[in-house]
Order: sequence, then C-alpha cells, then structure tokens
Amino acid sequence: MNLFGLSGHQRVDSLIQQAEEYRPSVVVCSDQERAGQYRFPELAGVRFQTGNQPLVELAQHPEVDTVLAAIVGRAGLESTWSAIEAGKTVALANKETLVMAGSRVMQMASQTGARILPVDSEHSAIFQAMQSGRAGEVRRVLLTASGGPFRDFDSEQLQSVTVEQALSHPTWKMGKKITVDSATMMNKALEIIEARWLFGLEPDQIDVIIHPQSIVHSLVEFKDSSVVAQMGPPDMKLPIQYALTYPERVAGPAPRLNFQEGICLEMEPADLDRFPALQLGFEVATVGGTSGAVLNAANESAVSAFLEKKISFCNIVTACRDVLNQHEFESDPSLEKLVSMDVWARKEISKWIA
Ligand code: MG
Repeated sequence: MNLFGLSGHQRVDSLIQQAEEYRPSVVVCSDQERAGQYRFPELAGVRFQTGNQPLVELAQHPEVDTVLAAIVGRAGLESTWSAIEAGKTVALANKETLVMAGSRVMQMASQTGARILPVDSEHSAIFQAMQSGRAGEVRRVLLTASGGPFRDFDSEQLQSVTVEQALSHPTWKMGKKITVDSATMMNKALEIIEARWLFGLEPDQIDVIIHPQSIVHSLVEFKDSSVVAQMGPPDMKLPIQYALTYPERVAGPAPRLNFQEGICLEMEPADLDRFPALQLGFEVATVGGTSGAVLNAANESAVSAFLEKKISFCNIVTACRDVLNQHEFESDPSLEKLVSMDVWARKEISKWIA
C-alpha cells in the first residue's frame, strides 16, 4: 500500500509531521487561513497545496485507486463526490455525503463502477455481517448505539445539559461535532439514513438498539431469523483497516477482545420520545429527496451554536425539526440543488436562533 496524498484542515502540525514521516506526493491543507500561519518544510518529492480545489484534484488523481474520505460534515461532499465520479474505491468515513445526497451518490457509483466501502463502525459491522448471506436474504439490520452520556437522563434532565457534559462520551473518543451528535442521538439518525442508501434498504428494515458497552458494532437479521453480529473493542482501527484491505483480512493494529476478563453485553430498545433525533432519521430515510441535505446542514449549524452556548442542548433537535418542516421539499434534486438547500438550512438556523 502506498500513500499518495494526505489532507488535513486545522491540525497543521500533525499534517506536517505525517508528511515528514510518510513522504506522500501531495499534501493538502484545506484551511487556507490556518495554512498561512505555517511554513511548510522542503521535502523532496512532496508538494504542499492549500484550499479546497486541491482536495478534489487529489481525490481524482490517476495514480490514486483508493480514497479514504474522512473529512467531517458537508465539507467532505465535493472531494468524496469527485472520487466516486472518477470510479475510485472509496473507504467512506464521511457519512454526511450519503445523508445529503445518498440517492445521487449511489447512482453515480453504479455508473462509474466506484466501490463504496463503509468505515463508519456500525456500517462496517453490517457490511461484514452481510457476508453471511446474500443481499436478498436480509430481513433487517440493527444499528447499535451506545446511548451516549445521557442514556438514562429523563426529559427534564436533558433540558439542562451543558456543553461540557455533552462532550464527555462514555465509550468512544471522537471529535466535538460527532460527540455532540452522539449525545443527541443525531449521529444514529444520520447513520439510519447512511445505511438506507449504502445497503439499499427500506427504512422499515432498519432498527436502532441501545448497547452501552459498544462491543457489538451492529447486527444483521436474515430471513431465516439468524442474527449475525460483528464485535470488537470500541476502536476505529479495524473498520478503517477492513475498508482498506477488503476482501482480505490481515493481521493489524486493532485491539482484541479479552474474553478472560468476562464480557457483559446489554441491549435495550431505543427511546424515540426522549431522543427525537431518531424520529427525524427515520423520516428523512423514508422521504429522501432534499430532506437529508436540510437535516444535515441544520444539525451542523445547530451543533456549532450549541458549542458556542447560543442554544440549549434540546433545542439542537427542535431547531432541526422546525427547519426541516419549513423547507420546500423536492423529491429528485440535483447536486446543485442539494448544495443550495444546505446553504438555505444554515441561514434558517441562524434566524431560528435569533
Ligand atoms: Mg458510527
């Protein structure tokens, strides 16, 4: 495996350090302002670039066969799209591309022959479990959710959640945006939509189950009622590796489960009343069209506003619901339309907060 290109946004120190260690041909820092504060080292054979356009060029470069798309949020759309357009194998960690434009993206992948392999741990688990049967033999999939830090909070306790509380996830160490998404369960809502497009499932074939230990990463139930689960410690090394080595399994750095310590697995149904984000996920997975782009943008904006302490925790989902209800729905939007709906939804969230 040869690393051809590498990109980063704000963590320029880390980007430079990895460039020095791995010497890829291209290194892109997409945050131009941030990049301006650094002096990039002179490394033989390494070209440093800044801005968003180089990301698109990198994802389509003829020497690249696999693109690991791990930019968070809507910012990952153009480069992921261009990799799919160019027929690359895409190891997809950026769920928002499928949330925003799932129908278009899957259509494009089937036209260009691009293969999309999930890196999101739940979807990697489903993908792995699905290999126990054929596509037509799947009855339903069960996405597991840790339940986040507020799994046992009642509606009243949820009203007074602080930013600090929301940022302390019990089992997974992740970036701020996705940690807040886990606390509201919006992350699971986005994953419902992601699973719907990625695996071509009907929304009623998708269920969410609360599993606090985050050891079972998701399950597939087949027509004969056999349920196949994929397990491992909560760690992203395996899902990333599997997407990069598929269909091979090779020894790697992923941690192993320790059965000597004893393992306890709890599972319980998800509460859609306390966590209404899940209702939004099922709704958007059902109606499709422009609704995914609107929900995703509204949520990204609302989460930023929450982190800046401009809105309360519960209002993240309330604001998303209101903006989703207000939007002018279109069932088969172009990519341009989806991008314009994204801009619209962000403005609506600003108005909602004001
Ligand atoms: Mg996930």
